[in-house]
Amino acid sequence: MALKGLDIFKMTPKTNCKECGSPTCMAFAMKVAQGAVDISKCPHMSEDALATLSEATAPPMKTIKVGTGDAEYSLGGETVLARHEKTFVSKTRFAVNVTPDMDVEAALAESSKVDYDRIGERMHAEMVYVEYTGDAAAYTEAVKKASGKGKVLILGCKDVEAAKAALEVCKAEKPILNGADASNYAEMVEVAKAADVVLGVSGASLDELYDTTAAIEKLGYKNLVLDTTGATVKETFANTVQIRRACLAKNPDRTCGYPSIVNLSKLAAGDENMQIALASVFVLKYGSIVVLDKMDYATALPLFGLRQNVFTDPQKPMKVEPGIYPINGGDENSLVLTTVDFALTYFVVSGELERSGMPCNLVISDAGGLSVLTAWAAGKLSSTSIATFIQENVEPKIKCRKLVIPGKVAVLKGDLEAKLPGWQIIVAPNEAVQLVKFLKDLKANGEI
Ligand code: SF4
Repeated sequence: MALKGLDIFKMTPKTNCKECGSPTCMAFAMKVAQGAVDISKCPHMSEDALATLSEATAPPMKTIKVGTGDAEYSLGGETVLARHEKTFVSKTRFAVNVTPDMDVEAALAESSKVDYDRIGERMHAEMVYVEYTGDAAAYTEAVKKASGKGKVLILGCKDVEAAKAALEVCKAEKPILNGADASNYAEMVEVAKAADVVLGVSGASLDELYDTTAAIEKLGYKNLVLDTTGATVKETFANTVQIRRACLAKNPDRTCGYPSIVNLSKLAAGDENMQIALASVFVLKYGSIVVLDKMDYATALPLFGLRQNVFTDPQKPMKVEPGIYPINGGDENSLVLTTVDFALTYFVVSGELERSGMPCNLVISDAGGLSVLTAWAAGKLSSTSIATFIQENVEPKIKCRKLVIPGKVAVLKGDLEAKLPGWQIIVAPNEAVQLVKFLKDLKANGEI
């Protein structure tokens, strides 16, 4: 059960020494109870109190790290059931399923063709699920072929000896060993402990999954993910949702506090359209890892778009970095256009500029991540903010002295002419879609 501030305060040294950054031990205890500060910030807590409080104040759902280097990902760590309550923390990761009887390298090369950026985020299948089919030597070979490709491996293997051999090949990459169930969990815990990897737990029913997880925790291993895949779509959905609800309930059940794996290659084998439909359900409803037969653009475009929408923080505006963005090979002599740093505005305007085929420089200043009119109304986009950014960042690099401003803030033209001597200020149309014709007309009239 979550501890209240007063319970935590009773265990503090009550010296009000302020070393934790809070003015009093009571203030510190309140912050710990809200989850705003970690209990370890107090250097004077006794070991007993620390052990009790660390467990009791730990987040209800564990954050589990998998992979290494650029391919290291966090799973779980969620604190709310619905994104609008606060935010989701760790986005769903997609895995491509391979088996030893496939041409593993060719399959992975095909799936790796999907690798692109969308609003500053890399979109690709981050993981590979290698499924065991009964032949240990062939399995190790398949794992060898899948390793070293910058993807997190998930070993779907319940055979203890085969899992050990496969881990010898890839344990340095910190894979997930998805192999524990009621029949083998004690041995699998030893294998996972020895290789220091995350252990995946599954069960024939939700009760069995829960009991096996509890038994593994009793053995002292808590580096786990729960495979919630059931025999049917209905059962899988119920398992995944009930586990998340239980761990984020008012009185959280920490045995359920782990990320989940949903294996759609099992649930809808060979049915690509059904897998895409189900993947979209489990992006929304608590799949930490979703396993698919393959990743192609038909799969990626809807799923990655959905994931990006769900896993952005609704409290933070989506922004692009302020700076000068050359478009169509724009150089120091090319026309300068400016707009705000709201990501949607940036991508709409830059897309139209690309479409125009005209070399130019799109200048983005800090407007608080707001759209043009909102930023102007909030005082974040003004003649002063634009002029200062142009003088400090653009004038030293760009020779062209023609600046196109958004049509919706045409009112800034006079002020900008006064603040930017030597610059010709041109007002763009109100809508980005009109930019192509607008630029063509400017060129035809010899204005640029
Ligand atoms: S560091 Fe510890 S003892 Fe000092 S004020 Fe903070 S909680 Fe109290």
